[in-house]
Amino acid sequence: MRHRIAVIGGGPGGLTFARVLHRHGRHVTIFERDAGPDARPPGGTLDLHEGLGQFALDRAGLLPEFRAISRPEGQAMRILDTDGTVLRDWHPADDERANPEIDRGQLRDLLLGDLDVHWGRPVTRVTPTGQGGARVHVADGSAEVFDLVVGADGAWSRTRTAVSPVTPQYTGVTNVETSLDDVDTRHPELARLIGDGSLAAYGINRGLVAQRNSGGHVKVYAHFRAPLDESPGGSEEIRSSMLVLFDGWSDRLLDLLRHGGTFTHRPLYVLPVEHTWAHVPGVTLLGDAAHLMPPLGAGANLAMMDGAELAESIVGTADLDDAVRAFEERMWARAARWAGITAAGLDRLVNPDPAAAVALFDEVQPS
Ligand SMILES: Cc1cc2nc3c(=O)[nH]c(=O)nc-3n(C[C@H](O)[C@H](O)[C@H](O)COP(=O)(O)OP(=O)(O)OC[C@H]3O[C@@H](n4cnc5c(N)ncnc54)[C@H](O)[C@@H]3O)c2cc1C
Repeated sequence: MRHRIAVIGGGPGGLTFARVLHRHGRHVTIFERDAGPDARPPGGTLDLHEGLGQFALDRAGLLPEFRAISRPEGQAMRILDTDGTVLRDWHPADDERANPEIDRGQLRDLLLGDLDVHWGRPVTRVTPTGQGGARVHVADGSAEVFDLVVGADGAWSRTRTAVSPVTPQYTGVTNVETSLDDVDTRHPELARLIGDGSLAAYGINRGLVAQRNSGGHVKVYAHFRAPLDESPGGSEEIRSSMLVLFDGWSDRLLDLLRHGGTFTHRPLYVLPVEHTWAHVPGVTLLGDAAHLMPPLGAGANLAMMDGAELAESIVGTADLDDAVRAFEERMWARAARWAGITAAGLDRLVNPDPAAAVALFDEVQPS
């Protein structure tokens, strides 16, 4: 029997789920809030791990295409002291493919392929029918019943309330984001400083990270401990407050902020490390909707792994509910492990002792 399946959200998790089912000849209805694939900037580069994001792409049959467009050189990592002294400078070996980088837009296009997405259809809520299925309510007032609804709608999931009362909580750390375009031509000194991959510097309870994307685009992230600020002001006010916060740091590092374009203020929220729920027939969650954690290089990988696993669990058994239950058990265990790792990582990266951040990199970088 072919089940009627919907996924809410066309991010890395939802699209991987749909793509793997599609590979097995199964149709999924994808509801996406955005009006189209280019409705908003896709965000920064992602490193896809061999055993997670790359594994999921393999299950989707997309690993060769990923290898052709990803950037293994983007695994390079340089750490500076706040005065600009180079403390660490790692370069990947020529054949190193553990965590190559890919632009989010490229990943989205790769996963999208010829999938049929219902763009511009924000879901307002999902309600279990009580008979094994669930109803999807869309902002235009329409509603549709499916045998399974998968909430892959990110941090502020509208699907989550169907299974869990838990909401994301502020970590005490805020991320401010800006970017530089055409860095090799317009800011060659910064381009040399950043190198092929990422640059990071850590001070007391704060850090500055610059990550190269393709096409000379660089994303800059400033993160710091602070009470939740719900009215940080406009882009120029945020830039000024960052220049005050990082006052005294090397001019080369401050240039990342001085030359940045638009500044965006993003407090970091997380779900509890062990977020589980009593199984609800007809609805489940994956990715950030299920296990939002600090942005330390795991979230998209886990969302994709979830998507691939749930899809394969569904094609591997005739009993849809059994497939979802088995998936949830595996996902919860994996997510709790990574949520613990990333929570501890955030504490060390945004720490009163900047040496704690450098020591963390020493532990995870290949020697
Ligand atoms: C600064 C930063 C850097 C990061 N770097 C990395 C990294 O290097 N590696 C890594 O693995 N992870 C990284 N992450 C984490 C990663 O971005 C997320 O974990 C990942 O995007 C989660 O994927 P998802 O598919 O679960 O949700 P999302 O990517 O949030 O996608 C959710 C989708 O659902 C749609 N949607 C939302 N609400 C609705 C609705 N009501 N109706 C319909 N559609 C809806 C959204 O428009 C979106 O398309 C980073 C995060 C940040 C903030």
